[in-house]
Amino acid sequence: MGLSRRDFLKVSAGGGLMLASNLAPGTALARPPAPRLPEAKGILFDATVCIGCKACMTACKEYNKLPPDHYHPGEIWDDPIDLSAKTVNIVKLYSNGTAHNKDQEINGYSFIRRFCMHCVDPACVSACPVTALTKDMKTGVVRYNKDNCIGCRYCQIACPYNIPKFQWDQAFPQIVKCYLCDHRIAQGGYSACCEFCPTGASIFGNVQDLLKEAKRRLALPVGRFADYPVQRVDSAHKAPRQVTPYLNHIYGEKEGGGTQVLMLANVPFTKLGLPQLAPESQAGASETLYHTLYKGMIVPYVVLGGLFYLIYKNTTGHELP
Ligand code: SF4
Ligand code: SF4
Ligand code: SF4
Repeated sequence: MGLSRRDFLKVSAGGGLMLASNLAPGTALARPPAPRLPEAKGILFDATVCIGCKACMTACKEYNKLPPDHYHPGEIWDDPIDLSAKTVNIVKLYSNGTAHNKDQEINGYSFIRRFCMHCVDPACVSACPVTALTKDMKTGVVRYNKDNCIGCRYCQIACPYNIPKFQWDQAFPQIVKCYLCDHRIAQGGYSACCEFCPTGASIFGNVQDLLKEAKRRLALPVGRFADYPVQRVDSAHKAPRQVTPYLNHIYGEKEGGGTQVLMLANVPFTKLGLPQLAPESQAGASETLYHTLYKGMIVPYVVLGGLFYLIYKNTTGHELP
């Protein structure tokens, strides 16, 4: 299997992080990892409750004024197959063997949503050299300011979830991703994907409450009926359902320093396309690397040296007049 340009950049970035950890043993991080904000907002997605109806995708498009995405040219309906500059939330399907059994790894299937995880200590914010991406210090939403963006796309390379997308087809391209419907939160509302999810597979709320709800579900006896809140974690609207097995893992509780989007499932998250991440945030380490390298002007000299070498290599025998 070939190495894509994006993978190459990620490997380079990973190598850079290894370099950072090896540059000076015992070197203090530029800053400690960021803690969870006490009033942070987020979403709990429970794959065992999801029926794959994609109402969350439709609502996301409508309330964020996103255009249809045509995977099959000529189609008139929205048919994305992955996240793009036109699609910031997608429901995907895992299937195995006969695919007969819901939420089973073998001969089963599971739905999974992919959208911005709103990391506690976001690598995209850390990598952005011009603070076009910022984290709201109350809600924890990772926002974007198009006026600051210089289009370097470092955020795309830094994000471990492959979330930010670039508007390649626009004259003045922007980075596009889910902003947790912060325009709706600012008006006392909440994420459209949760408001229109009919089953309660996606619920909105304070992350601390979402974590408690996720732990409650993991402790429920399989086969018994239990009430599951719909739309919001603190909603009076609850749907009774028979509890099905869960993996004992709340994805996002710890991964990469934690995320404000939390997920439950009964199929291993790596099979659902989510990365396996160490519990430590990499954002502090990457900032240490940038600070260390730029402090000694190592990067500019290395880049200049590389450029001179390439020019020399490509012009040997073709000296300029
Ligand atoms: S998932 Fe990616 S884009 Fe979203 S906050 Fe985390 S690093 Fe940034
Ligand atoms: S929070 Fe809003 S922008 Fe994000 S996936 Fe849900 S509907 Fe889309
Ligand atoms: S709206 Fe809810 S049930 Fe339907 S696909 Fe989205 S998360 Fe799943």
